[in-house]
Amino acid sequence: MKNESLIGQQGIGSVYAGPQGALKTSEQIDAFIAKGSGKGLFTLPTTFLKCAGAPLKMTFTTLSRLKNSGKRDAFDLQFMTPFANRVFTVPVYNDFVVNRWAEQGVTVNYQRELTAIDAAAKQAYFTDLNGSVFKEDYDFIHVVPPMSAPDAVRHSGLTWQEGPFAHDWLEVDQYTLQHRRYPNIFGIGDVAGIPLGKTAASVKLQAPVLESNILSYLTGSELTAKFNGYTSCPLITAIGKAVLAEFGYGNVLMPSFGFIDPTEESWAVWVMEEKMLQPAYNAMLLGKV
Ligand SMILES: Cc1cc2nc3c(=O)[nH]c(=O)nc-3n(C[C@H](O)[C@H](O)[C@H](O)COP(=O)(O)OP(=O)(O)OC[C@H]3O[C@@H](n4cnc5c(N)ncnc54)[C@H](O)[C@@H]3O)c2cc1C
Repeated sequence: MKNESLIGQQGIGSVYAGPQGALKTSEQIDAFIAKGSGKGLFTLPTTFLKCAGAPLKMTFTTLSRLKNSGKRDAFDLQFMTPFANRVFTVPVYNDFVVNRWAEQGVTVNYQRELTAIDAAAKQAYFTDLNGSVFKEDYDFIHVVPPMSAPDAVRHSGLTWQEGPFAHDWLEVDQYTLQHRRYPNIFGIGDVAGIPLGKTAASVKLQAPVLESNILSYLTGSELTAKFNGYTSCPLITAIGKAVLAEFGYGNVLMPSFGFIDPTEESWAVWVMEEKMLQPAYNAMLLGKV
């Protein structure tokens, strides 16, 4: 983000700015609610992004906090998406979210890419697909920055040369994770220029694919292990409820648990997100799961 120091000031928040930024974002939401009325904007970039559910979760949790305050009706919440017809790539989850927001009085504005903020004036500028600029006043804005692989990767000559990942993400095959021009290079995690998979849950499934394919490459064998695009996000729909979104390439749903409907919200998924994910991720980092 160009000016991260603004997070936590003038109604600006971003959960993408690390733990401290998330804390400051929460404080800005508290201040927004304490005003008793106002307008909140929630943005989405045009780029691929880490956990594409997070911008939606921020909207849902703010809504929940507003409802709990008893003053929901005094607030105007608007979601600004740069895309012409979606807020999320997987249609079943997109439709769920858009329909729920329609019931909850959250306005979705399409073709609105955040291009500038005048923090002192609390005004945000959005551009549509034709380049027209729209100014919006706000009391709180949740900013999701455009994302790319880190500069060391972007400037390495290893990124895609064309297509949707061009110059920003590592040029690997979406199935084998092998670099498309340099066969002795493989990619894993968020840097990979593949259509899905920017979640920690994806990395867990990519790791064994990568290991198997590197071993095959070193022994001159065919690369047979394939990453299926598995992406997982406990999509919080309210404080106390969530949908366990799990999907892969082709937007195929990939539920892990027979007892959880991947399209229904439930308190069980919320408990899973609240209590189990952090230990699971920590165990994953230690190679225990
Ligand atoms: C707000 C948010 C919510 C999320 N929610 C979920 C979720 O619910 N479930 C889920 O599975 N995933 C979630 N994710 C995604 C998950 O965090 C990432 O997919 C995961 O961390 C990817 O791991 P990674 O190692 O590829 O990248 P990172 O975790 O980004 O690690 C890359 C590391 O490389 C370091 N680095 C960068 N440049 C250099 C350099 N030049 N030299 C040395 N080091 C460098 C960075 O500092 C960083 O530590 C979320 C992410 C965010 C931001």
